[in-house]
Amino acid sequence: MRGGVFGLVAGAVFKTVERQELSLAGSIPVRLRHCFERDQMTDPRRRIPRTDTVLEQPELADAARTLGRDTVKATVVAAQRRARDGEIAPEAVPDAAFAALPERPSSMRAVINATGVVVHTNLGRAPLSGAAVDATAVAAGYTDVEFDLVNGTRARRGSGALAALAEAVPDAGAVHVLNNNAAALLLCALSMAAGKEIVISRGELVEIGDGFRIPELLASTGAQLREVGTTNRTTVRDYAEAIGEHTGFILKVHPSNFQITGFTASPNIAALVDLGAPVVADIGSGLLAPHPTLPDEPDAASALRAGATLVTASADKLLGGPQAGLVLGDAEQVALLRRHPAARALRVDKMTLAALEATLRGPEPPVARALRGEYPELHDRAKQLAAALMAAGVDAAVADTESAIGGGGAPGVVLPSAAVSLPEGYAAPLRAAAVVGRVERGRCLLDLRTVLPSDDKRVREAVLRCT
Ligand SMILES: *Cc1c(COP(=O)(O)O)cnc(C)c1O
Repeated sequence: MRGGVFGLVAGAVFKTVERQELSLAGSIPVRLRHCFERDQMTDPRRRIPRTDTVLEQPELADAARTLGRDTVKATVVAAQRRARDGEIAPEAVPDAAFAALPERPSSMRAVINATGVVVHTNLGRAPLSGAAVDATAVAAGYTDVEFDLVNGTRARRGSGALAALAEAVPDAGAVHVLNNNAAALLLCALSMAAGKEIVISRGELVEIGDGFRIPELLASTGAQLREVGTTNRTTVRDYAEAIGEHTGFILKVHPSNFQITGFTASPNIAALVDLGAPVVADIGSGLLAPHPTLPDEPDAASALRAGATLVTASADKLLGGPQAGLVLGDAEQVALLRRHPAARALRVDKMTLAALEATLRGPEPPVARALRGEYPELHDRAKQLAAALMAAGVDAAVADTESAIGGGGAPGVVLPSAAVSLPEGYAAPLRAAAVVGRVERGRCLLDLRTVLPSDDKRVREAVLRCT
């Protein structure tokens, strides 16, 4: 919140009014002038300072340089309206405008994720590593994303990011990066199944979230979906019976946000590859290689070794990078995808390419760190934080919790974690202060697995401010 800094402003405003009066005084007959002055005294709205005058105040002029003149002007106009409506005194317009200014020209706020959900879609999925953030800042200006500085000629777009991805997945003959995993699936369907069928198990007709359904996405390309098997059991024979010359590819989708347990069956990729049709494996989460904490989560290297023609994945889930879609696999097929006319509509931004490369080559991103977080360390931090809060009179305690991976993958996996537990009433004011916890059994839990250790202090301060 901005405080009042307009000690001098009132004087400046009155000066303006005086100037107006002076200039008017010369042209208005004395009798009328008298009326005017009286009118001005009885109608305070006449004392509302002019927009340009307010905009000239140094603090607002400064703000215009960081926020843009139009934004500041709109705020001034709104404050003038409040004065006209009698909500504030005319003299308070500059202060009111200043107080109402946004902090930044973009409204998106940084949030501390204390939900314990590592990949939280509503909170922007993966937080970028410092290295990736720096890379986006560099790429934000003019950059050699598509230019060879040695020869002065056009170069392959994003070649550094593509090389980093290819090196990270040596089993892939070629790689391609596009807007997100949905775009990757769309391009596969357009390029490999136009006028043909995509064979998919009924157990893998998945809705990812917010109404995004993979079968609807695929059908929107005009490809036919050939559903096989049942919700809980699909066998190799089911696939075999559906495959023929009309087959574009078999799609194997990782059910990344739910589990079917009990009487179930689903063939592995190798068994499907043996059927002879191309297999596209949508692994969802973006693990490039097997992860020790998540043994059941599919990864790109294993899927390719099992013979998948292509693997598609998101870059902003367990890989911990920017929003992007990855396609890895058969070099010829990837080349066809890249040459498809729709590829241009799905291509990624230069800042994404920069962030992806830094994620792959640079230091461990926060998602990887959160997955690695050990209970004793988390418990220690919770103890320290709770102790500091209790010392300040807050009803805080340490609670053992279970963190989840989230919409990003590994449904059913829970990671033992530790949280600071507060009365439920803290949840809403903390949220307003951009600290998002979760409410469980009448308590507000701040799970530290997803909080950077360097943010513990900000969490403590936010709780104290809400006390
Ligand atoms: C998340 C997910 C998607 C969608 O990925 P986006 O990058 O959000 O487009 C598709 N398939 C699976 C299996 C997923 O988990």
